Amino acid sequence: MQLSLGLSRSPLESLRDALLCEFGPQRPVARMDPISQLVKSSISGGTPDAVSWAAFLRLRAAFKCWEDLAQATEAHLLEILHDVTQPWDKARRLPMALRMIQDRIGWLSLSHLKALTVDAARHELQSLPGVGVKVAASVLNFSDLAMRSLVVDTHVDRVAKRIGLVGPGDTTHTYHGLMSLAPGAWTADDLFELHWLMKRGLGQMLCPHEAPKCGACPLKHDCAKLGVGHSADVLAWRPRAG
Ligand code: SF4
Repeated sequence: MQLSLGLSRSPLESLRDALLCEFGPQRPVARMDPISQLVKSSISGGTPDAVSWAAFLRLRAAFKCWEDLAQATEAHLLEILHDVTQPWDKARRLPMALRMIQDRIGWLSLSHLKALTVDAARHELQSLPGVGVKVAASVLNFSDLAMRSLVVDTHVDRVAKRIGLVGPGDTTHTYHGLMSLAPGAWTADDLFELHWLMKRGLGQMLCPHEAPKCGACPLKHDCAKLGVGHSADVLAWRPRAG
């Protein structure tokens, strides 16, 4: 597989094709409302999916609506979120974020974001306590807002840099680099699929932080980490000769 097939074809298309062959389709089966997704994504940072889903279900059981969560005490939330990473920060910031939305909108809803551009919606979300580029993109892409925003978590960030799709920088840099490579025709579902292919397929199964399994990887002939492929700068992307 070659990621650089020409200026008319984004390297992300080639990447997705290769990972689809390896891991199969990753289409969304159900989307939550954006407030529920904000709650889920806000407690997920640095935490295994199984642990954060269990914590999310405990929140669901503890509060009959998210408006009640907005009024919850930090101590109560800390008790529920005890096993997620940095529970103190999350227990403090999550109700603050929900109350801020209520103050701005008049009630607890994020449905108005659908009428905004992706960047405007992302900036509005990132002005909330505890919401960075990953959580904002999760709300926009994973929820029933279904907007074109790629979720860049630690796995997506790592493999994008190893492959050479983006250069050094923080996850915001990686987000913008990958979004600039996303074909205009790609839908929210396409970006959803790319996230899960890069995260759960490539990032967790073949290319973890330690000891990547390069011999079994479909990208082994076009990966910058192995000294093949291309330079790290997405803006310098050019079709490879031959
Ligand atoms: S070839 Fe190796 S370093 Fe490159 S993406 Fe595959 S597993 Fe990761």
